Amino acid sequence: MQKLLQSILPFESPQNFEDENTHLRYIDWDKPSRQIQIFAITALTALLYVIFTFLDKSWAPVHVQLLMMKLHLFVIVPLLLTISFLAYKKRFYDFVMPLLAIYPIISISCHAYITTKLTNFGPLLIEGYLGVFWMFVISGLTFRYAIISACISSAILLIPSYFFIRPFDIYVMHVFWISCSFSFGFLGALIFDRSRKAIFISQQDLHHLAITDPLTGIFNRNQLNKTVSQEIGRAHRYEKTFGFLMIDVDHFKRINDNFGHDEGDNILKSIARLLSRSLRENDTLIRWGGEEFVAIAVEIDEENLTLLCEKLRQKVEGMHFDSVGQVTISIGATLFSNNDSQDELLARADKALYQAKAKGRNTSVYSK
Ligand code: GH3
Ligand code: MG
Ligand code: MG
Repeated sequence: MQKLLQSILPFESPQNFEDENTHLRYIDWDKPSRQIQIFAITALTALLYVIFTFLDKSWAPVHVQLLMMKLHLFVIVPLLLTISFLAYKKRFYDFVMPLLAIYPIISISCHAYITTKLTNFGPLLIEGYLGVFWMFVISGLTFRYAIISACISSAILLIPSYFFIRPFDIYVMHVFWISCSFSFGFLGALIFDRSRKAIFISQQDLHHLAITDPLTGIFNRNQLNKTVSQEIGRAHRYEKTFGFLMIDVDHFKRINDNFGHDEGDNILKSIARLLSRSLRENDTLIRWGGEEFVAIAVEIDEENLTLLCEKLRQKVEGMHFDSVGQVTISIGATLFSNNDSQDELLARADKALYQAKAKGRNTSVYSK
């Protein structure tokens, strides 16, 4: 099956995710679009049932027409509208999938019950076939839920009808049409499921590429806005602050000129690795460009920020490179204060860095 799918789909598509984390991220990613799909489809299906109720059904006896109207208007339509409402309200989403999986079983049971009351059941049978296809492809049910609902519903459609659909060759046609809708639906749902997962993975890969600096493997400038605005939001919410550091390698041009660009690259990688290891897990290190880095240190005060700058400076100073020997950095640091914008933070840290350079480099300057 996987091989067949691979030949149908123009991309690598995973059956399952390797780790739980990716799986959870996929569910989060998948949720909003599925919610809208379920909201719209259940509302549309309810509307179609209302239209069906008011169609001329003289092919059915009056008491069966009444039964259909009651089941459709008082069971199926309210159930569909409830699911639609729950899908619309994001906080109820956890109830949506189980309810949506139960709904087709109830609906198909009603359908099967009505069919037993008819001698001319032909006009109604199509609803069952459409129903199975609806569960798989249209409803918005996840693949696993769709399989469960469709298997139970198909059994409900097949087993009781064995006893009343006559002549037997009509029953054979009935089985055939259910097999068609089940297999089309199953294949369609499988392709949808794998396509969604493949889109998710490629989007994740592209996102990773977009925010990662290829040389050092740390974040690149694209991540700065997101991290800073997140931290500014948190600082406002919890009345906290965070440190913003601009780090620049001293006389890096000379290193490139004297030892070559490749050696310059190796030194940048080593410095990035060392800085990254020296920061805490919740801190963020970004390659700002060239030989400049930005670090965002959370949960920190002025005293500890100054200590952190010194620690980073000394660690880089303490590294030894066979080619160059010693490399140093200068740091300009500042703390976020209440009304700062990202540009103001940057400007203050940049000014502090400029002062550190003016002081003779291999130093750090804190600016209020
Ligand atoms: P200062 O102490 O004032 O910061 O002097 P500097 O030489 O470090 O600063 P300058 O801005 O004059 O030079 C930065 C150099 O960094 C110039 C550029 O060739 C080099 N550079 C920028 N990006 C890369 C890179 O990705 N790899 C390498 N090897 N060098 C880079
Ligand atoms: Mg520079
Ligand atoms: Mg420099």
